[in-house]
Amino acid sequence: MRSISKSRIDKLAKEGRGLRGTFTAKTMSEVITAQQARDAEVREALFGKKAEKSKKTDRQKAKAAAWKAFSEFIRLRDSDEFGRLQCVTCPRSGPWRSMDAGHFITRAKESTLFDERNVHGQCKGCNRFQGGKFLEHERAIERIHGAGTAQILKDKAVKECKRTVDDYQFIADTYKTLVEQIKELSPNKFKP
Ligand SMILES: [Zn+2]
Repeated sequence: MRSISKSRIDKLAKEGRGLRGTFTAKTMSEVITAQQARDAEVREALFGKKAEKSKKTDRQKAKAAAWKAFSEFIRLRDSDEFGRLQCVTCPRSGPWRSMDAGHFITRAKESTLFDERNVHGQCKGCNRFQGGKFLEHERAIERIHGAGTAQILKDKAVKECKRTVDDYQFIADTYKTLVEQIKELSPNKFKP
């Protein structure tokens, strides 16, 4: 689907013209709504199995929203009162927003994906370019959460776990609430 720039939509809206000359819109939101409705019709005509497709998309969206909230919580949890976070596997530190929430057991394992013991604030260098520094992360987990925790996570990781859209929404809501609480209690973490 060809995308149209915001400035172009703005211009059209100001002129009161429709994108394809099929309707008249006075505001940008009207233009966008009309375009989306049109795009949905085209999609439906082209792909018969769109119901199945959109269902998958909803699940992916819910999972992404859950991860976003969880990741924020982890990085805030691991940062100091001024929002400075030290990497769990190296001496590097930075503002929590510029760091990652890195997994010990790969995020491909659903059952440990949102386990707070499995994820810690980590620099991008360790997380993305050094494979998460698996062994160092394991050592840190044993230190932070107690001896034997890494094995508990490994055992948990191989267990089957399937989550629904509702499950992801619950996770997202839970961690959004926790992030809000941190914001109230430690506002300095959110100062630039
Ligand atoms: Zn690091």
